[in-house]
Amino acid sequence: MSAAFEKVAILGLGLIGSSISHAIRKYGGAKTISGHAKSVETLRIAREIGLADSFHDNPADAVKGADLVILCAPVGACGALAAAISSAIRPGAIVTDVGSVKGAIIKDVGPHVPQHAHFIPGHPIAGTEQSGPRSGFAELFENRWCILTPLSGNPVEKIAALEEFWTGFGSKVERMEPGHHDLVLAMTSHLPHLIAYTSVVAAADLEEVTQSEIIKFSAGGFRDLTRIAASDPTMWRDVFLNNREAVLELLGRFSEELSVLQKAIRWGDGETLFNLFSRAREVRRGIIAAGQDTAAPNFGRDPTHKA
Ligand code: NAP
Repeated sequence: MSAAFEKVAILGLGLIGSSISHAIRKYGGAKTISGHAKSVETLRIAREIGLADSFHDNPADAVKGADLVILCAPVGACGALAAAISSAIRPGAIVTDVGSVKGAIIKDVGPHVPQHAHFIPGHPIAGTEQSGPRSGFAELFENRWCILTPLSGNPVEKIAALEEFWTGFGSKVERMEPGHHDLVLAMTSHLPHLIAYTSVVAAADLEEVTQSEIIKFSAGGFRDLTRIAASDPTMWRDVFLNNREAVLELLGRFSEELSVLQKAIRWGDGETLFNLFSRAREVRRGIIAAGQDTAAPNFGRDPTHKA
């Protein structure tokens, strides 16, 4: 990929911000990178591992002269961050974000982006349960979707430039209406995280089962739930506070399905259980057929646990 942007400002240098930095270093996309994070410690680590060419305590200083600004902070912090950089955004610049919720970000960030710049919200559907400046890697976005939710008035050439930035990292880009994004992600990401958090905490609260037994026998499903439940609490608090309506709608539907299962188990209705599990298995097969995961047993993990 050629360097489409002169200077990209990455505000927030955690998993996503640092991965964008590594991806630019590996694939191109910008000539220089300026970085900002909230804490002195994150800035120190970011400097140590070279996540940017310049580092700034003040986000407005990082943004000066940048033709691409990427907000990589938790969803709840993006509004204040946008307000802090507003006067430093240069004419013609693209301002984008990576937040897991789009409606709330548009409401919070949009008013702070000056008329002479272009706010194009985005969300790379790529992540791990790790966080912080050391957790990023260049390949995070490879073969993953990046959803853009352009706003009316975004010039087509600016949207195309941002699309090219993401496809340069190996991402596939899709455009979506923000409300639809929030519903889809509530289903595919937010609800599963809520289920993982609930299951892990419910297991930990079981007084008859000791903590050491949970750890000792945590195989298969439960171990995978604990991995998801290890995700950053600040990020996920902000996701649920900012995608309330879609999550509550889907939680209602989920509760209904759970009641169906509960009833089938109580009444020994094997046919209902079998049919529901068969439908679910087809969904998993569809994900593998779409190249979004591996068909290898146990997600391709080394059964000896040496890998
Ligand atoms: P992270 O690893 O916890 O990093 C967050 C970064 O934001 C840290 O560098 C933090 O700085 C900084 N930050 C926090 N508050 C800030 C503020 N007020 N001003 C400036 N910087 C601030 O989180 P992440 O996983 O990269 O998530 C970042 C964004 O990406 C979130 O909006 C999230 O919804 C989205 N996202 C996450 C994933 C995922 O799977 N993790 C996937 C796609 C999108 P300090 O370290 O100094 O506190």
